[in-house]
Amino acid sequence: MRNPSWHRDEVILALNLYYQLEPGQISPRNPKVIELSEILNKLPIHNDSAQNSDFRNANGVGLKLSNFLAIDPEYPGKGMASYSKLDKQVFDEFHLNKSELSRIAKTIIQTANNTELTVKLYKIGEDEEDTKFSVREGETIYKLHKLSERNPKINKKKKESYFKKNGKLDCEVCGFDFLKKYGELGKGFIECHHRTPLAQFDGETKTTFKDLALVCANCHRMLHRNLSILSIEELKRITVTNY
Ligand SMILES: [Zn+2]
Ligand SMILES: [Zn+2]
Repeated sequence: MRNPSWHRDEVILALNLYYQLEPGQISPRNPKVIELSEILNKLPIHNDSAQNSDFRNANGVGLKLSNFLAIDPEYPGKGMASYSKLDKQVFDEFHLNKSELSRIAKTIIQTANNTELTVKLYKIGEDEEDTKFSVREGETIYKLHKLSERNPKINKKKKESYFKKNGKLDCEVCGFDFLKKYGELGKGFIECHHRTPLAQFDGETKTTFKDLALVCANCHRMLHRNLSILSIEELKRITVTNY
């Protein structure tokens, strides 16, 4: 079976390593290249059945790094011109923002090295297409966000504290109240959304109920459509203007 094509998260990690190496250091024997190959094999992205024994081996990683040489305007030589559209896109996005690239890469690597966490993230599965393409920080961090919102204990605490303060469980963006709309059936229902912007999201930090906002299912879906940039306040502003 052919190896699956490179995922955005993988390209992010490769580009991050590219900036740490001199062109002459790009080789399958470089320990950093070998290390990245091992990390790519641990990412919670491609399922096991798609993984061949040569999946993302050091050779493949070396070739990917040479692709960036071909894209990089600062490299006077040629590089491997067989790069993909995604390689170019990720390069253009982060070429002038290497600090953000390294922060995102660090979180992805930390996550990949945490076996217990990656098992949980595998289970979250892929989401609808539009979300995947708009998440600048890649799927691993997106899944971390989703996982942080699936903690029944913290969600319960959030709802209790919100209810105590407001006497109802209404959406913090649009005010939708499930109890009001659906009666008994909707009682106690509302979703929790993690407020931390994705680029600053760090899978290691524990979520507390104060990090969460209560939102209706529609608003939550809209937030996730553009999770890289949309905050509760911004969505609220959009909602008010278009109503
Ligand atoms: Zn809402
Ligand atoms: Zn969310």
